[in-house]
Amino acid sequence: MSNPRWSRPKVLDVAAFDLAAFNDASLEAGDIIDRVLERFPGETVLSCSFGGPTGMVALDMVLERDRSVPVYYLDTELLFPQTYDLIDRVAERYGVRPIPVRSPLGVQQQNAHFGNALWERDPDACCNIRKVEPQKTFLRNSSAWITGLRRDQSLERSRSERAVWDPRFEVIRISPFAYWSEERTWAYVRERGLPYNDLNDQGYPSVGCVPCTRAVAIGEDRRAGRWAGSQKTECGLHFQGTTT
Ligand code: SF4
Repeated sequence: MSNPRWSRPKVLDVAAFDLAAFNDASLEAGDIIDRVLERFPGETVLSCSFGGPTGMVALDMVLERDRSVPVYYLDTELLFPQTYDLIDRVAERYGVRPIPVRSPLGVQQQNAHFGNALWERDPDACCNIRKVEPQKTFLRNSSAWITGLRRDQSLERSRSERAVWDPRFEVIRISPFAYWSEERTWAYVRERGLPYNDLNDQGYPSVGCVPCTRAVAIGEDRRAGRWAGSQKTECGLHFQGTTT
């Protein structure tokens, strides 16, 4: 099905877009989504990792308002079977097929060019190839990018505002749930009976690629299972220079 977004060049007057208004603390997540959809019809997309509960809440709230908003995920070809299963369940529930955004370089080609298991030797490079660059291409014609980012997810994220200009992707990044807690997020998921990743009930509060995700022990940080054993904490989608 064609989407007007694809054939329309991006016309974005950031100066005319009042970021501060979106960061008004009195706004609820739903109000922010309403404003974005109203301000950028046909130019708003939603990313979902299908690895944690906030993306499921975001997806539900956005699609409840407008089922034509493109929902995409970065298909690194290294996701867990449970993640692909969730994507199928979402497609069935909402009647919308999430868009897989992939690197032009398949995993086999990446192995041939850079050697096997690049994620073990240089995870920043691997994330750049498999996530960041494909997302740049995908967001080329979008003006607003809605994410499920929350401030309580990590130290880097704790400074994020609900609306920021992202110069790398040249979009306004909207995080309606920035101030939500884990508890509030799960309460919404349970209340609405939303589908979620089966691994979330098996010690994986945050699910990414198979080689870079492990279960976390009780008392560990929720994101301790991502890139465990390295200093890397982010894939580079929300924040640059994530390996310190
Ligand atoms: Fe590569 Fe790991 Fe990043 Fe996935 S999370 S793209 S496997 S480094």
